Amino acid sequence: MKLFNTLSRTKEEFVPLEPGKVKMYVCGPTVYNFIHIGNARPMIVFDTVRRYFEYKGYEVNYVSNFTDVDDKIIKKAIEEGVDADTISQRYIAECKKDMASMNVKPATTHPQATQEICGMLEMIQTLIDKGHAYMAKDGTVYFRTKSFKDYGKLSHKNLDELQSGFREIKVTGDEKEDPSDFVLWKPKKDGEPFWESPWCEGRPGWHIECSVMSKKYLGEQIDIHAGGEDLVFPHHENEIAQSEAANDKPFATYWLHNAFLNIDNRKMSKSLGNFFTVREIGEKYDLQVLRFFMLSAHYRSPLNFSAELMEASRNGLERILTAVERLNDLDGKVSGDAFAAEEEADAAAVRELVGKYEAAMDDDFNTADAISAVFELVKLSNSTASESSTKAYVDYLKDTIAKLCDVLGIITERKAEVLDSEVEELIAARQQARKDKNFARADEIRQQLLDMGIVLEDTREGVKWKRA
Ligand code: AMP
Ligand code: ZN
Repeated sequence: MKLFNTLSRTKEEFVPLEPGKVKMYVCGPTVYNFIHIGNARPMIVFDTVRRYFEYKGYEVNYVSNFTDVDDKIIKKAIEEGVDADTISQRYIAECKKDMASMNVKPATTHPQATQEICGMLEMIQTLIDKGHAYMAKDGTVYFRTKSFKDYGKLSHKNLDELQSGFREIKVTGDEKEDPSDFVLWKPKKDGEPFWESPWCEGRPGWHIECSVMSKKYLGEQIDIHAGGEDLVFPHHENEIAQSEAANDKPFATYWLHNAFLNIDNRKMSKSLGNFFTVREIGEKYDLQVLRFFMLSAHYRSPLNFSAELMEASRNGLERILTAVERLNDLDGKVSGDAFAAEEEADAAAVRELVGKYEAAMDDDFNTADAISAVFELVKLSNSTASESSTKAYVDYLKDTIAKLCDVLGIITERKAEVLDSEVEELIAARQQARKDKNFARADEIRQQLLDMGIVLEDTREGVKWKRA
């Protein structure tokens, strides 16, 4: 299996630290709003990477954090007049719902930064003790980039270039020894959440969170660290500096980065305001379509979001579901628990396509080519399976398509038809829950309906619903 490693900028053979096991850390979202479909790209892509390792028989320990202390969360809390915790807990819950709707498996552990402050204090102290960090007069603790000889190895930047780039900042006179030094701990401002520390009452910098959570849940050395390409510098570069300086060991063997999801060929981002939330897309499409769309391109290629491409994904997915439905139908009509002699060649063709699929995935998770192999399999199924096939052959096709799609996180069984009466009953139960002020239950029912493809709209005339 080959992976493109940002560290070496080449495809490298995957060699796990421990045979049969993969330790993997994926930087998760900052939780101050609903996630947008750009944030969904790393979730879907690296969930697929995880699923493929599992398909190959590896045991995967998958850790993905929630950044729940951050300026944007605090700003939102002030706007709403609530505390930061209320905001982050709300959007963690919403994010988990979106992940479930996109069939993204829950991580082995989803740590939250605010629950891991002790570990951060410890790592920062270690860095100070070893001369890799220092405290400024105001209590801010900085990492001393000059003390880490490999600084820049991931982003392939040269420390001297970085420093000249930062020269301007230095003129503004902050208390850093060097303009490229970065914050490990910073003093609180009025009204902000804070923790006690040996340096000042304050809060951690963003980068230290991931170094600490990765160490706690996966150990000092891990196989894969992943995230969007915008994280290469400074976030991941700084994580490497902190972890390797504190632990005296290489941090992650492989660094994987997904390219951006664009819209109108511009980066989709919250700050540019040109984004769709996963929730919005879920009102128009089954989120399997979004997942299929994301995997239709290689994860390292930029991907432009458009209604046409979503439509093409919907049609492609439909072709697969229809083929499986036909196999299910045939399954009830055929018999024979061994291939007939004349099916051997077709069965060999199936095996060959599985080989093609695996070769694509082994080549740095080329899901675009893997999907092409699935389409070829669907075509083969449509042309070779019939009422005169054996059950062995029909089942072989059906199980193979389901297994290969499962790695992509695509469920091949069509969702059951939802009856109007069933919807009405659930809506009535939701109304009752609201009357009882059981809002958690009411939300749960709304989500259940959404999963069934039913969108609710609360209007003055009462609740209206439609099929997505
Ligand atoms: P954030 O909440 O901004 O920290 O982002 C969470 C994750 O989503 C990170 O891995 C980002 O790199 C990734 N991300 C954010 N926007 C996009 C986008 N438009 N396309 C792909 N990945 C993105
Ligand atoms: Zn991170």
